[in-house]
Amino acid sequence: MSVRVRFAPSPTGFLHIGGARTALFNWLYARHMGGKFILRIEDTDAARNTQEAVDVILNGLRWLGVDWDEGPLTSDATAPCKGDRGPYYQSQRRDHYQQRVAALLSRGLAYEQDGAVKFRMSREPIVIKDLIVGAVRRELTDREAADPDFVIVRSDGQPVFHFVNVVDDLDMGVTHVMRGEDHLSNTAKHIALFHAFGVNPPHYAHIPLILNADGTKMSKRDQGASLLTYIEEGYAPEAVLNYLCLLGWSPKDNREILSLKEIIDRFDLPQILRHNARFDMAKLQWMNGEYLRGLPEDRFHELCVHTLAKAGIDTNRFDLRYVKAALDTCKGKLKTFSELPAYAGFYFTDLPPYEPEAAAKDFTPANRPRLARLRAGFATIPHFTAVSLEACLKNLAGELGVKPAILVHPTRLACTGSTIGPSLYHLLEVLGRDKVLERLDLALARIPAST
Ligand code: GLU
Repeated sequence: MSVRVRFAPSPTGFLHIGGARTALFNWLYARHMGGKFILRIEDTDAARNTQEAVDVILNGLRWLGVDWDEGPLTSDATAPCKGDRGPYYQSQRRDHYQQRVAALLSRGLAYEQDGAVKFRMSREPIVIKDLIVGAVRRELTDREAADPDFVIVRSDGQPVFHFVNVVDDLDMGVTHVMRGEDHLSNTAKHIALFHAFGVNPPHYAHIPLILNADGTKMSKRDQGASLLTYIEEGYAPEAVLNYLCLLGWSPKDNREILSLKEIIDRFDLPQILRHNARFDMAKLQWMNGEYLRGLPEDRFHELCVHTLAKAGIDTNRFDLRYVKAALDTCKGKLKTFSELPAYAGFYFTDLPPYEPEAAAKDFTPANRPRLARLRAGFATIPHFTAVSLEACLKNLAGELGVKPAILVHPTRLACTGSTIGPSLYHLLEVLGRDKVLERLDLALARIPAST
């Protein structure tokens, strides 16, 4: 049997990391099994659905690298993932639902009541053989026992979630329904509908929820709940993907950093954990830092350039070798890409304003002649390289009888405007003699002479 799975989000304008994880697990399973991954937008609630809300989902999946395999042909150049195929939209499938309702009505498995259509729900207990949760036996509750039938088409003609969800899974040949555990309570209804259509239901695999670090249920407002946060804060998608995989899945050998290929090779349903996962922001940040350190050169540069561009810093105006050399001094130094504009913007912009507290501390009358001598040294050293610059600064510190730090701090501030940033000697080398001398002159011009 060829595996067919789907991610079926309702566009709410928000992609919760729980949803992103559900998408990811389905996609990984399809890739592991050589099956198909379908994206279906459950947008029957017209009032709440907007294109922007759909875009939040599409952009989030695209950012993670989760691509879908089939869907109707689309001319929307921003939507397709593979071969001009858009996702399925329930709002475009009304005919299918009408035909299925008619089929149930004609066989007496559904009936009309007060303008709505109700499904004749099974009175027998239903056993859900869940691949993760185990077997769950659902009896009718006392309230349900009084009237177990449920509405499948509202009196306004709108088919309801349970119905369209099942019709689509049936029409799309879905073999495994992997979704959040919050849907376990709907599953008896879904199974009964499949039986009414005369087919066996798909396999179910309900994934335990993601909780906050303190064990409370993660809501929309909790820190880190939205995938958008990571996109905006400049996380590496590879790191977020790796972290999300570990929320509820374990490759067993305690390894945590795994390449996508390793994850796909190992991902399988039996390793999905039965207990709820706890979201740990500190761990995600740590993992992101590890990824940033380990990213291949080109990918690191690509993500840096992208982040800088988003912050309004255009690196295209500079020589490519300069850009690469500048970014190389940031490698291993960032926890997230969002730190980059403040960390390395000085390479690509006019000198930002000096940090006021640092200026008060380092641009002192006593430091003025020291910096002036350093400038003279930098102006004349034969090779403007990190090694020579370091030797020059340290020699001068020796001659002046001060610690190197006394020279390092004002020099960094003069050349970058900040107290934090890449290794000083390397950044000076990259900036180059002209810019360094120019920036030292600017600083000297504003440092008060001794009184
Ligand atoms: N539209 C449902 C949701 O967003 C999908 C449920 C399912 O995956 O079956 O929760």
